[in-house]
Amino acid sequence: MSGERVLVSACLLGKRCRYDGGECRSSELERRLAEEGLVPQPFCPEEEGGLATPRPPAWIEGKDAAGVLSGRGRVVDEKGRDLSAAFLAGARSAVERCAEGDIRRAFLKEGSPSCGVAWTHVAASSSEGKKVAGMGVTAAALEEAGVRCFGV
Ligand code: SF4
Repeated sequence: MSGERVLVSACLLGKRCRYDGGECRSSELERRLAEEGLVPQPFCPEEEGGLATPRPPAWIEGKDAAGVLSGRGRVVDEKGRDLSAAFLAGARSAVERCAEGDIRRAFLKEGSPSCGVAWTHVAASSSEGKKVAGMGVTAAALEEAGVRCFGV
C-alpha cells in the first residue's frame, strides 16, 4: 500500500457537483486507486471557487486556460456572465490543497473548463461551447505548480 494522497475531481468519486447537478463516478478510477493504494482527496474547483450546483455550463473564452491564468482570457457561462474570478479562486485553492497535503498527482475529469487535462471546452459563440485540445483552468494551474495531472 503506497498511502500516497492524490487529488481527484470530486464528481469522479460520485459527488453530485457537476454543472447539471449530476456526477460521473468512475469505477475504473476507483479500482486503480484501490489497486495502487492511493488515497483520494476529492476536490471540486468550481464549488470551491464559490459556484452553486447546479449552474449554467461555462467555457473558456479566448485561446486557452493559460490566458485565463494570466488575466488575458476569461471564463464565461452561457448567459455571458464572467466567471473568471470563481474559476481562478478554485484553481488557487486546488494548488494550495496540494501544497498543504504534499500532493504531487491529480486525477481530473476530462473536458471540463476547470478539470480537463487533454481536452476542454472553449466558447464557440456567446451561447455555445466546443471541445478543443487543451487544459482546463485548474489543471493548468496544477501543472504550473508541479502537480502532474491525469485525465479520466
Ligand atoms: S469542476 Fe471538476 S470536479 Fe467539479 S464538477 Fe466539474 S469536472 Fe467535476
